Amino acid sequence: MNFAGKVVLITGASSGIGAAAAETFAKLGASLVLTGRNIENLKEVAVKCSGVNQLPLVVPGDVTKEADNEKLVAATLEKYGKLDVLVNNAGIIETGNIENTNMEQYDRVMNTNIRSIYHLTMLAVPHLVKTKGNIVNVSSVNGIRSFPGVLAYNISKMAVDQFTRCVALELAAKGVRCNCVNPGVTVTNLHKRGGMDDETYDKFLKHSQTTHALGRPGTADEVAQAIAFLASDLASFSTGVSLPVDGGRHAMCPR
Ligand code: NDP
Repeated sequence: MNFAGKVVLITGASSGIGAAAAETFAKLGASLVLTGRNIENLKEVAVKCSGVNQLPLVVPGDVTKEADNEKLVAATLEKYGKLDVLVNNAGIIETGNIENTNMEQYDRVMNTNIRSIYHLTMLAVPHLVKTKGNIVNVSSVNGIRSFPGVLAYNISKMAVDQFTRCVALELAAKGVRCNCVNPGVTVTNLHKRGGMDDETYDKFLKHSQTTHALGRPGTADEVAQAIAFLASDLASFSTGVSLPVDGGRHAMCPR
């Protein structure tokens, strides 16, 4: 995998999978654009990426705000003059089932996890067409399997998979690929930010040893490697793919 001369934009680069993806792409020679809301975290990630290439362009922003997405794409073009890879990674999880969820939760989760991807991809596509670039979305095992208790999240991630396939078909003739990764439980800040306390999270990770065939949760780095693969020329004949990075969890059934 070699991203020398390629411009890669990563959302949610301030933490977890996005931060790991930033470091992975940096090691592979990419010129980076990093975005997220937490400026301090973004700067720390940027410094970690800067050993290999020039310092990444950091553009703080909220992916649910259309003006921020417009600024993000404009800043990318202004700095690098092109875009080769869009990694739609930013996302949130919230617990809630059909008996206790509410429309505010639905809007928050859907706006962050799918509406933002819809909008940012829309803005990026004219530039990706010019470079015959590609898109990698970060979905979830929840996009391809069903779990109770995180209803809005499940729906938002299922939408990411459908979006991935449809966009792949729409852009294939123009030489633009679109794929997604579907991580299983991955050790990041996601679940604690979604409301789990330390003790519950420890139990959740222990339980993950039984819910993932490979007997453990995954690391952000493992997901980052899969994102880089799909974005690279090694995956030149893959589009519309949902790639599980979940220790086999998608294939498991209770027995
Ligand atoms: P983290 O909480 O560690 O990181 C989430 C990232 O998303 C942060 O960089 C955060 O940035 C960003 N983000 C969230 N909301 C917004 C927003 N409104 N605007 C801009 N950025 C935003 O979690 P992960 O790294 O785990 O999550 C990354 C992706 O991976 C998500 O889409 C998640 O659903 C998916 N995933 C994670 C799994 C896991 O077990 N961890 C499993 C399956 C999928 P900031 O706070 O700076 O805005």
